[in-house]
Amino acid sequence: MGLVVYNTMSRRKEPFQPRDEGKVSMYVCGPTVYNYIHIGNARAYLVFDIVRRYLAFKGYEVEYVQNFTDIDDKIINRADQEGKTPAEVASLYEEAFLEDMESLNIRPPTIMPRATETIPDMIEIIEGLVSKGYAYASEGDVYFSVAKFKDYGKLSGRSPDELNEVGRVEASGLKRNPMDFALWKASKPGEPSWDSPWGPGRPAWHIECSAMSLKYLGMGFDIHGGGQDLIFPHHENEIAQSEVFTGERPFVRYWMHNGFVNIMEEKMSKSLGNIILIRDIITRYPPDVVRMLVLQTHYRTSIDFGPDALDESQRAYERIENCVFGLEGLLANITSKVAPVRTEREIALIDFFFDAERRFEEAMDDDFNTARAIGVIFELVKELNTFVDEQQILQSPGGPIVANQGMDLLLKLCRILGLLEPAAAECEETAAEWEEDHIPSPDVLIDLLLEVRTLARSKGEWQTADLIRSRLHDLGVRIDDLREGVRWKFT
Ligand SMILES: [Zn+2]
Repeated sequence: MGLVVYNTMSRRKEPFQPRDEGKVSMYVCGPTVYNYIHIGNARAYLVFDIVRRYLAFKGYEVEYVQNFTDIDDKIINRADQEGKTPAEVASLYEEAFLEDMESLNIRPPTIMPRATETIPDMIEIIEGLVSKGYAYASEGDVYFSVAKFKDYGKLSGRSPDELNEVGRVEASGLKRNPMDFALWKASKPGEPSWDSPWGPGRPAWHIECSAMSLKYLGMGFDIHGGGQDLIFPHHENEIAQSEVFTGERPFVRYWMHNGFVNIMEEKMSKSLGNIILIRDIITRYPPDVVRMLVLQTHYRTSIDFGPDALDESQRAYERIENCVFGLEGLLANITSKVAPVRTEREIALIDFFFDAERRFEEAMDDDFNTARAIGVIFELVKELNTFVDEQQILQSPGGPIVANQGMDLLLKLCRILGLLEPAAAECEETAAEWEEDHIPSPDVLIDLLLEVRTLARSKGEWQTADLIRSRLHDLGVRIDDLREGVRWKFT
């Protein structure tokens, strides 16, 4: 059936068809760098890391852009508090963010542009919006005229009444209409500023993401991701700016939004640690435990994060880890290098492997249902543990080979989700060596063909017997029919 993706815009699952065949262009709103990230922030980056890994597994070449918002009120406020410049604050927390991403084994995006390095592109878009009559300057600020964009509200599904409600709260004397949002803000004395046609100022947040996504991915790119809290107004505003500026639609083909992490503060503060910052969590838990927590819930469902959440994920993670490393330990001690016939039990297990792999992919194809995919991994772990407990692995010569196939599959599925890296490299080496040692040699296969030929001859099926002989001859295998049997050699 192929991959289907839930599109926030249409509110349904749609077959995934990228703009360019074989390629996926993807933009995820990056951090505003003014503090350390917590488990709630990290979820989005883990979710889209998994999306990106799965798309790569499906054979797509993925271009993944994630920005840094390195100029913002929050950064300026933090700089005032800490006695630093806004640029110092931004660079400190940008570095901290990259460290946290690395420790969570999140693959770096293809491009990570900074807002402050894209300002000429933002000014160009704002000028375009002004000249088209969709934006107006007001005492050094520039605002977008929401009422002019008839499609406003199409992503969030908000009615004009609701929008007016939100606007009224944010209304300022400089806006013509309370719903209008800022594109450019005049800077106050002492604040960082850039020259613009409207005087010294700085970009507002929403225009940053329009400028950076259009610059690197172009109009109509495939996936725009972020947390559900960004749907309104951030992504709604990005659509308005981008579709008006380019005169094209849609801005984005698939809008994907991950659910919240509800940090149960009361429960958390009662527990000892009250840890929610990634840099604190990873001093107490392996980074894969955080990934596991995210994987066990569908990305659109919210996660209740209480004091036991990470302990539970750790137990789940260890079940997989113990299975893999247990098998690796067993296999490392088995030196037999024959490729024997499988028992019925082993053939059934191999069938289970094929079925598990298919069901894993079906789950992931269904809007990246990692909870179901992890369920399949646990079934595989259970089957392999049972197989080891029955001591089948040692009783039959085929046991280790089948167990090795199972370990190989388990590692493959984990790797697609970004689990067990890079600790599993050693196991993969063992698996590869095993595979090399146990692929049937050509001798075994030629013997098998000659067995079939002898059977055919005994039944008078000369055509089959001759076909085998002549094809083997073409491959350089010379056959001698002797009284004591068939002999062959490579010529
Ligand atoms: Zn954004």
